[in-house]
Amino acid sequence: MSTLPPLKETGTAGSALVDRFDRRVTYLRMSVTDRCDFRCVYCMSEQMTFVPRAQLLTLEELLFVGRTFTELGVTKIRVTGGEPLVRRNILWLLQRLGALANLHELVLTTNGSQLEKMAPALRAAGVRRINISLDSLRPERFRRLTRVGDLDKVLRGVDAALAAGFDKVKLNAVILKHRNHDEVPALVRFAVDHGIDIAFIEEMPLGRIDDHDRAELFYPSDSILADLRPHFTLLPTTRDTGGPARYHRVAGTDSHVGFISPHSHNFCARCNRVRLTAEGRLLLCLGQEHSADLRRVVRAWPQDKRRLEQAIADAMSIKPQGHEFDLVARPVILRHMNTTGG
Ligand code: SAM
Ligand code: SF4
Repeated sequence: MSTLPPLKETGTAGSALVDRFDRRVTYLRMSVTDRCDFRCVYCMSEQMTFVPRAQLLTLEELLFVGRTFTELGVTKIRVTGGEPLVRRNILWLLQRLGALANLHELVLTTNGSQLEKMAPALRAAGVRRINISLDSLRPERFRRLTRVGDLDKVLRGVDAALAAGFDKVKLNAVILKHRNHDEVPALVRFAVDHGIDIAFIEEMPLGRIDDHDRAELFYPSDSILADLRPHFTLLPTTRDTGGPARYHRVAGTDSHVGFISPHSHNFCARCNRVRLTAEGRLLLCLGQEHSADLRRVVRAWPQDKRRLEQAIADAMSIKPQGHEFDLVARPVILRHMNTTGG
């Protein structure tokens, strides 16, 4: 028996999703699994306990939630994880999300390990853009950062993605002091040589990890920018992707370098996104715990679109104003990034 209150007769269900701060939510980041074939040191601890499978949303439930969001005004869905491409039958879901009438953009974030074999099928399924995480170009170091990853396989995945004809392929790199900060120019050179963009991400305090002290290895975007200046001319752009990254164009090339700096630059005022965990918890902010349990709704009233619309619309009222990351204090956010859906 469900304990949910009776469905309200009035409400914002059916209209666009707008929160208390007049921010319109048009972007859903959907985690399809908390599992991963890598164990990146900033994302997971070595021994991870994953959510029991029965608690994960089924592919049908994920589709139902995704479709309902698009009917409420969401125009962009990013499928992520964990590693989304290790979820069994993920193509079934992507094909159906890719065909949703109101969805303008279906995009994917991946560690690249499965791209060599899956890139053409992902493109055919309607994935428009793809972000590939790449923190190092040195095999040993790549292995150390991911604990298990095979760099060559990921590089073949990058090539496969480029050949598959996505509208855009972009790299993401998390930079840690003394681990890979000296590779920043080489990573930009790699992006430029491949005619693609790269975004550098500051490490965020999501979940307890055993590999390092996050404050000690913190490497700010401003330092990355300073490291790049002797090698490249970076021209600030006004390019607005609606997201947190600030972009510079590398002079004389088509490549852009982005900086995602949750510590030094607060981007919350323009936040247009919410996140769905693989368990069906709707997170209203990456850096806060405010959430709504959508799994409870879809399991109590399977395929009841109005109930789900109502739950999503109601959740807008608890979207917080912003995040408050603090690397020195103990992490207040206990969930890891693989749970959050980065
Ligand atoms: N497995 C896929 C991947 O690695 O691209 C998708 C999920 S992963 C959680 C999404 C992004 O989050 C990756 O680019 C990863 O580097 C980043 N990430 C993971 N943990 C992070 C942390 N604690 N701080 C900042 N970025 C993190
Ligand atoms: Fe896996 Fe991505 Fe987390 Fe690395 S960052 S452990 S690839 S989910």
